Amino acid sequence: MSLTLADARIVTPEGVHEGWLTIEDGRVTHIGHGAAPGPGLRLGGRHVVPGFVDVHNHGGAGGSFPTGEQDKARDAVALHRRHGTTTMVGSLVTDTLDGVSRAAAALAELCEEGLLAGVHFEGPYIAKARCGAHDPTLLREPSPQEFAGLVKAARGHARMVTIAAELPGALDTIRMAAAEGVIAAIGHSDADYEQTIAGIEAGATVATHLYNAMPPLGHRAPGPIAALLDDERVTVELINDGVHVHAAMLRLAYEVAGPGRTMLITDAMSATGLGDGDYVLGPMKVHVRDGVARLAEGGSIAGSTLTMDVAFRRAVQELGLSLPDAVQVTSLTPARVLGLADRIGSIAVGKAADLVVLSDSLQVDGVLKDGVWITEPS
Ligand SMILES: [Zn+2]
Repeated sequence: MSLTLADARIVTPEGVHEGWLTIEDGRVTHIGHGAAPGPGLRLGGRHVVPGFVDVHNHGGAGGSFPTGEQDKARDAVALHRRHGTTTMVGSLVTDTLDGVSRAAAALAELCEEGLLAGVHFEGPYIAKARCGAHDPTLLREPSPQEFAGLVKAARGHARMVTIAAELPGALDTIRMAAAEGVIAAIGHSDADYEQTIAGIEAGATVATHLYNAMPPLGHRAPGPIAALLDDERVTVELINDGVHVHAAMLRLAYEVAGPGRTMLITDAMSATGLGDGDYVLGPMKVHVRDGVARLAEGGSIAGSTLTMDVAFRRAVQELGLSLPDAVQVTSLTPARVLGLADRIGSIAVGKAADLVVLSDSLQVDGVLKDGVWITEPS
């Protein structure tokens, strides 16, 4: 099976070039400038970008990853794939230890089917004062022994754990996660600057949705944001939906961390792709009004209804990133964080043909996953 995409603007981290590419057996085998040597699907100058990689995603299309309803979870993956996300991690919110364990086992099944690239435990090891949409009554102090049980439940697919660095047991749990190859992320945290540095020293390498659910930047109390942005070992997640973080603060973070340490995430919840209404996020009731998800009680922002194509478009149109930089923060950097950059994350010979065809206005026209159309361009 061979497919040539011709008359395309191919976006790589190095630049945009006009030309063609050939796909064989699910991989990109040739990339050329100018006119294609043989017949091919002519894209009329449309852009081709690498499939988006989302490391923080709770669901969509009415399906939540925490519920363990496998068919609904499959609907969620299908929705995000239609929006260009060809690799995604399934995120779990706080539940009882048993609940999280069961949900991790259910997600492991989806990982084995090739639908998810791993499991992210966003709770229960987070701070009460910064718990956002997580049930405060179910939060726990981090424990390496206990977390080992959750890792086991995920059957080799535990990919990331969010930990509030200031909690008792946090540093030991971060060390244990890092040693097990699970990405330790600092977030939903009330840590000060020094406590955050201690978490990074223990092995944390990601900031869970920087700015959200953590103390703000202060000039005498720089807090976790300055510590996480300033450290070359840390890659920061940003929710670029126009609701969670002001564009000026997104630009500020990006200016410091650059495309190599910034990754856009959706933090999408079940309402994504459906519109306004009443939904759940784990055990919590959520109302969605005007596309903004908030807890029914208290009104905290409860995840987003964002998709990666919108995050990509906003990166270019609202934040002013170049196309090569925008593909880096939506594909290559998250792929690198997941340890998958040798296989996915950019358009290169030998890598998987996970590709998105975008119109001039950067709307999704087509999506390929492993060389197979999810949506064929019109
Ligand atoms: Zn989340």
